[in-house]
Amino acid sequence: MEHSPTSSEHIPVTVLGATGMVGQRIIERLRNHPWFRIASLCASEKSAGKPYAEATQWRLPSPLDPYIARMQVQECIPTVEGAIALSGLDSSVAGPIERHFAESGFAVVSNARNHRMDPHVPLIIPEVNADHLQLITRQQFRSGCTVTNPNCSTTGLVMALKPLHDSFGVTNVDVTTLQAASGAGYPGVPSMDLIDNVVPFISGEEEKMATEPRKILGTLEADGIRFADMQLSAQCNRVPVLDGHLACVKVGLRQRATRQQVEDALRNFRPSPGSLSLPSSPEEPLVYLGNPAHPQPRLHRDLGSGMTVSVGRLQECDVLDYKFVVLSHNTIRGAAGAAVQNAELLVRSRLCGALQRYAVFDPPEQQKHL
Ligand code: NAP
Repeated sequence: MEHSPTSSEHIPVTVLGATGMVGQRIIERLRNHPWFRIASLCASEKSAGKPYAEATQWRLPSPLDPYIARMQVQECIPTVEGAIALSGLDSSVAGPIERHFAESGFAVVSNARNHRMDPHVPLIIPEVNADHLQLITRQQFRSGCTVTNPNCSTTGLVMALKPLHDSFGVTNVDVTTLQAASGAGYPGVPSMDLIDNVVPFISGEEEKMATEPRKILGTLEADGIRFADMQLSAQCNRVPVLDGHLACVKVGLRQRATRQQVEDALRNFRPSPGSLSLPSSPEEPLVYLGNPAHPQPRLHRDLGSGMTVSVGRLQECDVLDYKFVVLSHNTIRGAAGAAVQNAELLVRSRLCGALQRYAVFDPPEQQKHL
């Protein structure tokens, strides 16, 4: 079915950075979305003015919607049609463009690192810290707002840490990632550098993984987020996998726990009530896989349409308390799917002035959780 261009019941969305890896995934995830319709597509000056199919090389296995293919790409200027701006902009330009859209009355949902650590900008994984969305009431925009989702490797890590932190308290985390090529955008790392190789450097990634989890797992207090009290150390590697970031994690726990208790905590993960029944929330946000050779990128990255994070290989550890492996789809759970899910959470919360006139049909008991 072609994308419906004019349904007045759907909230108009502009996609910033529509031609990139994340932008393409956002477009894919908005196809037949129950609440949203794509109203405009924006990218750099070099793409503006061209039909979308000409401005980008569609690199996803799902076909490009013919209506979207014909849409003309525009410059990232907030006169374009839309109430929500879903941003897959390169971080070198995202900061001022996203701010301009928020100042102009858009609800901005960003994938870029630029505003993640701003004290009044929520850094959200709906299943983990939907309550942090309240931070937007402290933002200085007239009706717009900014919400961010975490770095793609942080997301999988935090989903696994959350039940352990709630049950036992996490004090230390030592994580080594094996990150997919698509995480670097297109064309990303040259093939001559990545085939038959591993590159043990991803600019800025280790710093993000050491700080973002403390904000997400922190607590919302009267004067902002109190960061979680834990130490994290990360080493990040680029590997020749197309999609799916794997992370080998060691954790130290505040409270003693048996291996079975840790596995039970992972298996019984309870997502934030605010995330329940959002159109993009998977049935199982976190799944524990018992096979000792799982999870694997090729086999498990698409679980829950790319929104399920898989954990496995839980073992006692002689260095910290326990070790395990986490896998998440970097351009879906770690980027586009996360942004669409955050936009859904934002709409349902009714906290952002820009979206208050849009009604989504939702059981009222969901709203009281926010
Ligand atoms: P990408 O493939 O390189 O796409 C970048 C997008 O930004 C393109 O649409 C590009 O448009 C646009 N752009 C570049 N310069 C611009 C300018 N001066 N003005 C307006 N638009 C401009 O990158 P990506 O992998 O999709 O990543 C996008 C963002 O998401 C980055 O901030 C990245 O860190 C973050 N992220 C990526 C992943 C992942 O797994 N890939 C995961 C989480 C977060 P043109 O085509 O016209 O140049």
